[in-house]
Parts: sequence; structure tokens; C-alpha cells
Amino acid sequence: MDIRLKLDSGDTALTTPPVDYKYLYVLTGRATPLDGDCGLLCGSICCRPDRKNSLGVYLFPGEESLFPEKGSWFAREHHDPKEYDFPDNWTGPVHFIKCHSPCPREARPLACRFFPLAPHLLTDGTLLLIHETARLPYKCPLIAGNVPLRGDFIEVTALAWQVLLKDPRILKLVEEDSRERERTLRGVPAVIWAGAVH
Ligand code: SF4
Ligand code: SF4
Repeated sequence: MDIRLKLDSGDTALTTPPVDYKYLYVLTGRATPLDGDCGLLCGSICCRPDRKNSLGVYLFPGEESLFPEKGSWFAREHHDPKEYDFPDNWTGPVHFIKCHSPCPREARPLACRFFPLAPHLLTDGTLLLIHETARLPYKCPLIAGNVPLRGDFIEVTALAWQVLLKDPRILKLVEEDSRERERTLRGVPAVIWAGAVH
């Protein structure tokens, strides 16, 4: 299950406090991968609908509280986690945002704020940030060209993941993704950042 394309909603009973998404939106609000707008490199290809209009972004459990049910720039789908390969501790519905026009920047989902970085958890609990490895119908020039990313963007993304991974549903999703990635790629991808989970 790919984190950029998969995330959820929140009626699972938690033993930990809920993630503070308002805090995470403030934390990540100004961080950008490059000094300038990386969308100029590719015509913002990661924001454009594909021919099948199948692209979208999943919200993390509880993140949907920051989104109106209907938006001027997106349509929302509710997905059953059992049908979309989410871990078994996820309950539905999973909120899937499909953009039909550019979002207000301050409203973009966390998954967009993290791209092109993705989390990878080693079995000893070390958190890594790597380039996104999901099969996407476009090529991100930052990944393809291994373009150095701003240090503050990397640090903010790591800090946000350390917060998100306190949610056992997100932790399990990233653990399952990581094992699957290691199987598929036969190893761990190039590491951009490494640190403790908490
Ligand atoms: S993240 Fe990559 S694909 Fe998306 S706008 Fe920036 S350069 Fe383009
Ligand atoms: S929410 Fe915004 S940043 Fe994310 S894919 Fe849609 S238009 Fe792009």
C-alpha cells in the first residue's frame, strides 16, 4: 500500500492521542522541496488528472476533519479499507481526494506536502526517508534527476512522520509498505534521511 496513494479516516479506537493535524499543517505549511516552485520543472504534472481520472490522494486517519465534505477544487470518494489493501487495523471509510483544479496551497493534503519523499521503516525501528517508489503514471524530475532537496524540507517531513507514526494504523501501514518495498526492490532504497521513529 503506497502512502501517497493510500490513507484513511478515523473511527478506530486509539490508545494514543489523536494526531494533531492542525499542528502538522502549520509545521509543513512553508516547507518546499526546492527554493523555487518545482512545478515549473514539469508543468505540475503530479497535480494533473490522468487519462482515466484515477489519480488522487488519500487522507490520513483524522485528516479529513480539515476538509469540507464538498470542495470547489476536489471530489471526495469514500473507500472501504478492506477493498484497497489497507492494514487490518484500518476501519473505513478511507477518504480519497481527487483534484479537478489546483488546490489552495494552504489546504493541500499531507501526502502532497511530503512528496517526493516517502517513509521507510527498518525492522529495527529506524525511520528512513527515501524517494517515493510507488509506480506513478508520471515521472517526477526531482526523483528522476536525484535533485538535492532543501534541508529544511527534509527535516520538517521527518518530524511530521515522527508524529504520524504514533498512530498505530499509520505505523502498520508504513511497516507493511516497507516490507513490501524491500521484497519488490530486493533491498532498501537510497537513504535521504535516517533517524529514530520518536
Ligand atoms: S514534486 Fe515532482 S512531479 Fe510534483 S511538481 Fe514537483 S517536480 Fe513536478
Ligand atoms: S491537492 Fe493540490 S498539491 Fe495535491 S495533487 Fe491536488 S492540486 Fe496537487
